[in-house]
Amino acid sequence: MAGQFNSSQLKKIGVFTSGGDAPGMNAAIRAIVRTACYYNLEVVGFIHGYQGIINKDFVPLAPRSVANIIQRGGTILKAGRCQKFLDPQIRKAAAHNLKELKVDALLCIGGDGSFKGAHIFWEEHHIPIVGLPGTIDNDIYGTDNTIGFNTAVNTALEAIDRIRDTAASHDRLFIVEVMGRDSGFIASAVGLAGGAENIFIPEEPYSIKSIIKSIKESIRKGKKSSILVTAEGQKPGRAYDLAEALRKQGGFEAKVCILGHIQRGGSPSATDRILASQFGFMGVEELRRGHCDIFVGIKNNQFVSTPLQEAINKKKDIDKKFLKLIHILSS
Ligand code: ADP
Repeated sequence: MAGQFNSSQLKKIGVFTSGGDAPGMNAAIRAIVRTACYYNLEVVGFIHGYQGIINKDFVPLAPRSVANIIQRGGTILKAGRCQKFLDPQIRKAAAHNLKELKVDALLCIGGDGSFKGAHIFWEEHHIPIVGLPGTIDNDIYGTDNTIGFNTAVNTALEAIDRIRDTAASHDRLFIVEVMGRDSGFIASAVGLAGGAENIFIPEEPYSIKSIIKSIKESIRKGKKSSILVTAEGQKPGRAYDLAEALRKQGGFEAKVCILGHIQRGGSPSATDRILASQFGFMGVEELRRGHCDIFVGIKNNQFVSTPLQEAINKKKDIDKKFLKLIHILSS
């Protein structure tokens, strides 16, 4: 269920970036500040996510303070996890801080964990919050895309294209590990766009035997080099476990490349800047309408708002047709 509040008194909005940083967060902050200014609303930015609300660590934001940031990766407001916010007493103090600072509503740019905090904050203290999905993982139910995903995929893809050059020159098997602890959206997008021979994602079980069979099959068909893409899974370094299993059980020597944090940084792509700008604008609009306990998103090329609870309770599925396509095209 979405929330509703009386927005006729809306004067000051607080914005923060929470959880992991994602390229495009700055473009969203810029859009929020400039849209708010257009409607004569004040904006403050809290530093390091929920931590900034707890510590009253904030900066006033005006159109000139967000100049020259649309092209910058990371977030000028700093991101981060805040364990303290899980404590109801701390949340009570945080709500008190917002009253003191005369902040009427919040815009939270982050992932589903941050949305959980936002939903609880609304339920307990009636702090109106609207979420903007910002995570490179793209694993938020209720939106086809999140801020940062497109850039992260492009970054990983650039690396894969380089690896393919060396894989082809030396007739090698490479395993490239991309980010994605619980979700394989980056791995499947990168796998398809990078022409990977196989992908490994947390959503789909795999057997080493069948991978060995498919590598042997592709060698039989004349392939001399292969790239396998794996999501990191529960712990980074999964690619090494895969390489070891392929060596022991199939006699294959695979080279491993773990892309790690380079996927997080860098200048946001045009797609992410455009998405973040639209989400920022929408976030302010929703607050002006008195809507809260929701997040803004895009579904089938339409901008939509969805209750935060849905992002918290539902899991976004990988499209199985997409996986089949990767398999067919790798033959
Ligand atoms: P993301 O938003 O990228 O999914 P996290 O899962 O780390 O990142 O969540 C970011 C922050 O959101 C946490 O550090 C915490 O401050 C807040 N948060 C997450 N879950 C809860 C919860 N159940 N109650 C209150 N706050 C939460």
